[in-house]
Amino acid sequence: MPAGESRVWNNAVMELGGVACGKSPSCDEAGCPWREWCHAYQTGDFTAPDVPEQPSFEGSRRQFRGRIVRLLGERDVISLDTLGHRIRVDYSPDGEHGREWLRGLLSDLADDGLVEVEDSGDETSVRLRG
Ligand code: SF4
Repeated sequence: MPAGESRVWNNAVMELGGVACGKSPSCDEAGCPWREWCHAYQTGDFTAPDVPEQPSFEGSRRQFRGRIVRLLGERDVISLDTLGHRIRVDYSPDGEHGREWLRGLLSDLADDGLVEVEDSGDETSVRLRG
């Protein structure tokens, strides 16, 4: 990777994946500029190496954590249920994806020092840690 060009490099690799190097690569058809260094092209073995897949459960948690942080970035403070309704359409306080599920995500985010959760009476408020 050229020094200081990581953004350009990453974009180029993404582009390569989009136009040439998919599951069935079109190396010659797309004129892939990587052919002279590409092990797969040289050996004809296009099977992908074993890349550990992120479990979808983890992927979805990460996605929702991202949504929470983004939303909190737009607000000073938000109540637990309002937050739940804003980050997923099927949020229902006592349902499968309800308060317990949301508190689990918030607890991870609090452990990471990103959010503060405050319980007072019936109300739970959440904010980004300042
Ligand atoms: S030459 Fe290699 S990098 Fe280029 S498209 Fe074929 S497999 Fe992908």
